[in-house]
Amino acid sequence: MESATPVIVAIDGPSGTGKSSTSKAVAAQLGLSYLDTGAQYRAITWWMVNNGIDIEDPAAIAAAAGKPEIVSGTDPQGPTITVDGVDVAGPIRTQEVTSKVSAVSAVPEVRARITELQRSIAASAADGIVVEGRDIGTTVLPDADLKIFLTASAEARAARRSGELKGADVHSTREALIKRDAADSSRKTSPLAKADDAVEVDTTELTLAQVIECVVTLVEEKRAGK
Ligand code: C5P
Repeated sequence: MESATPVIVAIDGPSGTGKSSTSKAVAAQLGLSYLDTGAQYRAITWWMVNNGIDIEDPAAIAAAAGKPEIVSGTDPQGPTITVDGVDVAGPIRTQEVTSKVSAVSAVPEVRARITELQRSIAASAADGIVVEGRDIGTTVLPDADLKIFLTASAEARAARRSGELKGADVHSTREALIKRDAADSSRKTSPLAKADDAVEVDTTELTLAQVIECVVTLVEEKRAGK
């Protein structure tokens, strides 16, 4: 196969739309790197909790934002995340971190720090990268070659999330998810939003395989210069 020019793909959307599964699969299929930016916000939140920082105190979070060293491994077949050398892939998925991440990620100093990290990772991905998050197309990589915004009904998103959480109650999952999306969408600094030039894909009625195929086709069309 000919070597293609690096392509930068931004995939944004709320939780439970299939962002991570889609982004990883698209990156693996096309030989691109993969970055889960939600994992970075979860990692810094995990560090704040572990170091006794008061999550209700934005000034305390801002003051500590530069301290943890967060490193993301970008192989889509086995993405990794460490904080100060500690593997936190498991701990960042706990209920405690999930319930606190929106408050931490709303602090401008946290966003500035993580955004800088994300831009340097994207710039060093030789073959291109798929970056998934909430503000990638609008703020982090506004010049991305392709921007996708994934959506799905609240019911579909809650059902998928509770499936992932091995049978967690759908109703409470739905409430927690709606609360987190509302916080992420209403914060002042780079909220969850669709970029004007993003392609919106509603995944409610689609299987994961269909969403992956749709995004792969869009990337291939971009690469072919359509
Ligand atoms: O994608 P995931 O659910 O792991 O994201 C966790 C949280 O990280 C989100 O609820 C949001 O608060 C924050 N986030 C963000 N900007 C991103 C990605 C995630 O604020 N680009």
